[in-house]
Amino acid sequence: MVRPRRLRSRAASLSQSPREQVTGPASPPPQSRPAPGRLASRLAPKVYPSVVQYASRPHSVELRNLPAPEIGPHDVLLRVGAVSVCGSDIHQWEATHTWPVNVPVVLGHEFCGTVERVGEGVRGEFQPGDRVACETAAEVCGRCAFCRQGRYNLCPARKGFGYGTHGAMTTFVRVPARCLHRLPSHLSFEDAALCEPCSVAYHATLVNSTVRPGDLVVVLGPGPIGLLCARLAHLAGAYPLVVAGLGRNAARLRTALRIGATHTIDLDGEDAKERVKSLGDGLGAELVVDASGATASFRLALELVRPQGQITKVGWGPQPLDVSIDPVVGKNVRVQGSFSHYWAIWERSVALLAAGKIPTREIIGRIDPIAAWESSFRAMAEGRVIKSVLVPG
Ligand SMILES: [Zn+2]
Ligand SMILES: [Zn+2]
Repeated sequence: MVRPRRLRSRAASLSQSPREQVTGPASPPPQSRPAPGRLASRLAPKVYPSVVQYASRPHSVELRNLPAPEIGPHDVLLRVGAVSVCGSDIHQWEATHTWPVNVPVVLGHEFCGTVERVGEGVRGEFQPGDRVACETAAEVCGRCAFCRQGRYNLCPARKGFGYGTHGAMTTFVRVPARCLHRLPSHLSFEDAALCEPCSVAYHATLVNSTVRPGDLVVVLGPGPIGLLCARLAHLAGAYPLVVAGLGRNAARLRTALRIGATHTIDLDGEDAKERVKSLGDGLGAELVVDASGATASFRLALELVRPQGQITKVGWGPQPLDVSIDPVVGKNVRVQGSFSHYWAIWERSVALLAAGKIPTREIIGRIDPIAAWESSFRAMAEGRVIKSVLVPG
């Protein structure tokens, strides 16, 4: 169903400058535009199936036909190559998200593709045909203390693709050129779509935490981020490397063993504390990565971490904590949060993916056309696949 006017007015309210407005299908036909170029005349009348969240009620996501967006001088029009489905897309679909969503909005923030067209301020930097992955910080202020340090993931004005501004579950997406990273020709778009979750995991495991070869590392929660955290800890030499999850995640725990974990723990059937105590010197984990976010997970992290160790929390959990965090004091533990990522991390994720260091095919369970988004989301929500990837038809 096409609701161009609503989308158009919302898009206009999101834009910082009128030149960056996304025009709807009500834009003038190509013949009435001044000197439309071949591309414009090809795109203007066309619309593309796009996965749109239109309200913050459960299951308020549907396929709508939208035109390609207009771009501003510092933007690139990206032809989407692949976009992976994130747990946050599922949360927005089920309305279990805890962040404000600028509805209606096209979902999708884990993506890559080919440069189709460039704004005049970007000429010379990118050109049509370039293969790129795109970061998620669609809008940042560029002036605050965090932006000036390159830590724009923490910019108070940050708006991400797929909730703050239109994302990539469509054919064409407008992206600021500053968000782009070049991809080598041998790296497939499906694999490169994992740059974003890889960067989340890299930030949590290797930037916000310290892992040295031989460190006992425990990852709680074998979802896509948890498994990627485990893989990065493995690449950093963690040993032993433990991944723990609930009994229903048995298949994911088996995946963990294939991608570098030395041990797994079924939290429904095993005593995690005893298992971890039986490893290394018995004093606990140097690092516990909480990729689950549940209160029970943080409580377990407090038990498993060794004195002087670290807990890094990358999983979200909106429920209040019902546990004493005194072990943080008693064990002299460092508790660290980890949010999103920034430029230098992305460059490393691209390098690791290009080098084949990330076993993407263990993570990606299915690749579907965008029109099949619902079954793709459902497969992930029901735990049948670790990660779904969508590609424009
Ligand atoms: Zn994501
Ligand atoms: Zn800023």
